[in-house]
Amino acid sequence: MAKKISIAIDGPAGAGKSTIARRLAKELGYHYVDTGAIYRTVAYFFDLWGVAPKDIDGITRYIDELTVGIEYDEEGVQHMIMNGMDVTDDIRTQEIGQKASLVSAHAIVREALLDMQRDVAKNYDVIMDGRDIGTVVLPKATVKIFLTAAPEVRAKRRTEELKAKGQKADYNKVLKEIQQRDYQDTHREVAPLKMSRDSIKVDTSELDIDGVVAAIREIIAKKVGP
Ligand code: C5P
Repeated sequence: MAKKISIAIDGPAGAGKSTIARRLAKELGYHYVDTGAIYRTVAYFFDLWGVAPKDIDGITRYIDELTVGIEYDEEGVQHMIMNGMDVTDDIRTQEIGQKASLVSAHAIVREALLDMQRDVAKNYDVIMDGRDIGTVVLPKATVKIFLTAAPEVRAKRRTEELKAKGQKADYNKVLKEIQQRDYQDTHREVAPLKMSRDSIKVDTSELDIDGVVAAIREIIAKKVGP
């Protein structure tokens, strides 16, 4: 089997990773893997079970009760399956995002999810987004992008995104949550969010989606051809 192409896109919450990665995957015909959704699924599971995201004893006790699956529909949209149930929409709240940030700090959780992420990249050309894709999950990724933007820009985008989905969103609250999530994600001991030396930084503060997609396509084309 020919070696698969893997594009790692890491960066903080709200930098536009999923929007950009989804677009790129569609244009290039790769699989889009949203790894944040996997951590959100874990957070959602423990939330349903009444286990607090910092409660390592509870997480250790019940983690074997959880099965997480990734499925793709005909349109290539990723669905998250938790113990046989499609939870794709349920996991997309600010609250579950916050809890995912705490639950993902535990080594036992990260280890349990590592192989499933690597397996997708073994079988398909992928664009995978997350926090530790270039550093831990796919250290040999073909191209590594670090996508970032000023916290204020990310908070504004996230507020608009939530409002568009009909959810309540207050800019100041979202900004505070983003700053808190940045802190948690960059300061945890296991697989913290950081830019690896071989990744290319793309700041999206001043660019629109088309501009970011074009910039990244150029970077990919240089490595793997158009
Ligand atoms: O990207 P998203 O906001 O959906 O991610 C939710 C949380 O999951 C992040 O704040 C982060 O703590 C965690 N995560 C992670 N590693 C990844 C992807 C997400 O720790 N590869």
